Amino acid sequence: MDDATLSAPRPRKKTAAPAAPAKVKPAKVKPANAKPEAVAGPKVTGAKVTGAKMTRAKRGPAHAETAPESAAPASAAGAIAAALLAWYDCHRRRLPWRAEGGRLGDPYHVFLSEIMLQQTTVKAVGPYFTAFLARWPRVADLSAAPLEEVLSAWAGLGYYARARNLHACAKAVVERHGGAFPADEAALLALPGIGPYTAAAIAAIAFDLPASPVDGNIERVVSRLYAVDEPLPKSKPHIKALAAALTPHDRPGDFAQGMMDLGATICTPRSPACVLCPLSAPCLGRAAGDPARYPVKAAKGEKPARAGIAFLAVRADGAVLMRTRPEKGLLAQMSEVPSTPWSAGVPSPGDHAPLSAGTKGWRALPGRVSHVFTHFALELEVWRADLPATTAAPAGHRWVLPRDFAREALPSVMRKVLAHGRVPGA
Ligand code: SF4
Repeated sequence: MDDATLSAPRPRKKTAAPAAPAKVKPAKVKPANAKPEAVAGPKVTGAKVTGAKMTRAKRGPAHAETAPESAAPASAAGAIAAALLAWYDCHRRRLPWRAEGGRLGDPYHVFLSEIMLQQTTVKAVGPYFTAFLARWPRVADLSAAPLEEVLSAWAGLGYYARARNLHACAKAVVERHGGAFPADEAALLALPGIGPYTAAAIAAIAFDLPASPVDGNIERVVSRLYAVDEPLPKSKPHIKALAAALTPHDRPGDFAQGMMDLGATICTPRSPACVLCPLSAPCLGRAAGDPARYPVKAAKGEKPARAGIAFLAVRADGAVLMRTRPEKGLLAQMSEVPSTPWSAGVPSPGDHAPLSAGTKGWRALPGRVSHVFTHFALELEVWRADLPATTAAPAGHRWVLPRDFAREALPSVMRKVLAHGRVPGA
């Protein structure tokens, strides 16, 4: 199947065979204060499926045979899935990457959106998704694009390793699968940059396979539904097993998206709107009286601090001196204003200034730039030098005029440096 075929609307198909059951540990579900009927009974009244008869025959949950012993029994899991799907049919979010009219999602759209949505909000992703699709409408187009262009289009979304993975994955889909994403969770997982969550999301949403993606929203809903007391991240495998046990064979993609939507709109982090929730009746977190305490989190340590000096050289014509970061490591191959290494204490400028600043010299600007990365918090001093328009760039560096900033793959931290130095066009 070529990519053009994949982009065409594809009707939903019923899955033929159940997925292999997940291996799960005995569950640790908080029984205290729970209403007995909350987990044992199939009585799910919050949705428009009140009184639905749930049997394992057609709408039974995947993995039911090996579901954790204290998870919902098959009938209750089926009722939970039915209630969620009924709610989803009425209240689903309209998102640019979602297929409408009961169609399956386009695998490329699902892939693109899921990679962008990692660590980024739906609101922030929307314009990037639309721009990527307009520029590279098919996975083959993305695979043929130069990496620098992809990094540049990604600039501002952060976590740039995702853009490199996106590109590498698009290439692999073309090289290994002829430009069509494989309809198989294991084969998806074997692609570069696709982890268990993304593989399960594509399998479920684009191919309607009974896979169980667990993102932050689903993690929150499931941990509340079962009042999981074990703190994150240790409880992740247990929560995944509970989510898998709930996943129905019928409409697993809609079930996954329904759980995502429920977590984003009703079962929100601070104030879950339990009165509006279709899973209110069987929810143990709600029954225990304080659902917002789930998921329980392990106490966080402080992020280590690093510091450095960024050397902002500005020519009289407005051009700024930049260079490209190394091929591997943090912000690999992104553009940057030259700086000292980022280390535990404020380093001395030493020999790190990229060029001599002439008679006026380098001057430290007041204030600092702060930026938080996944594993550390960075504080940068910004030293500026103003130079004649004829100044040549030292080896490994280049002058970039403000009108060309948009073509540079500039990470957020470097945009902050330019803004701090009051560079026009930053
Ligand atoms: S905590 Fe409230 S909003 Fe969340 S799943 Fe339970 S009942 Fe629904």
